[in-house]
Amino acid sequence: NLVPIFEDNEHNGEFGGVLLVLQDVTAIRRLERMRSEFVANVSHELKTPVTAVKGFAETLLGGAVDDPELARSFLQIIYDESDRLNRLIGDILELSKIESRRVPLQFSPIELSPFVYKTIELMSAEAVRKQIRVTARVEPGLYVEADEDRLRQIVMNLLANGIAYTSEGGSVSITVEPVHDPNLSFDDEGQENYEHIRIHISDTGMGIPKKDLPRIFERFYRVDKARSRSSGGTGLGLSIVKHLVELHKGTITVESRVGIGSTFTIELPVLQ
Ligand code: ADP
Repeated sequence: NLVPIFEDNEHNGEFGGVLLVLQDVTAIRRLERMRSEFVANVSHELKTPVTAVKGFAETLLGGAVDDPELARSFLQIIYDESDRLNRLIGDILELSKIESRRVPLQFSPIELSPFVYKTIELMSAEAVRKQIRVTARVEPGLYVEADEDRLRQIVMNLLANGIAYTSEGGSVSITVEPVHDPNLSFDDEGQENYEHIRIHISDTGMGIPKKDLPRIFERFYRVDKARSRSSGGTGLGLSIVKHLVELHKGTITVESRVGIGSTFTIELPVLQ
């Protein structure tokens, strides 16, 4: 803010004042640009399934309905695209709620070993369908303070991606380990102390090219659009995961090699 005071000659030499407020609008402009880009992306993403639904419904109405085999396949497409639309809308609403911090988190201590096994169980149908082996290695007795449903959403999303981007016969693994602080080695009862825990979710899948790595947490960013679409992706999963991890005051990183696989690592503080 700049406040130059000058002598006002037009008003009998009295002192007048001008308040000049200089505001850096770069951040506001950037936010506005991001918002309008988001609206454009959302419209585009919604348009694709809507166009398909409309087009196939029109073809059915135009006569294809009389050919039972054709009609069935078109109805299946209409069903799949509506399903996609539904997931897309769900994810957009979810992301907007999380971004505007309208999700109250309910923190409680969670023992990670049973938590991880239960989460893997929830993904087992998908893993079996793709013949992907899912394994876990979790030190017993590790706890973290988190919102259980949200932590489950984070881990399930990363497992689902691991399964989706790995070909049949591959594997996905979860490892949970404490990160020890050398200054805080033992508590009063002689138990080893840890301040953070790390959850690694690795797969033997297709991997992510180096140039795409910095962008995969962006909304709607996909390395391969067709592949994401065919695996039922909305392009919003990792953005949601990143936000949820940050709401837990944690971090998420990724390492990947094309043709070898990817590892996503979440680091969470033990206590909030
Ligand atoms: P999507 O719904 O497309 O899976 P995400 O936000 O979950 O969206 O992921 C963004 C993109 O990151 C994906 O489209 C995919 O290209 C890439 N990706 C995410 N996880 C993996 C993984 N485990 N292996 C390879 N690529 C991945």
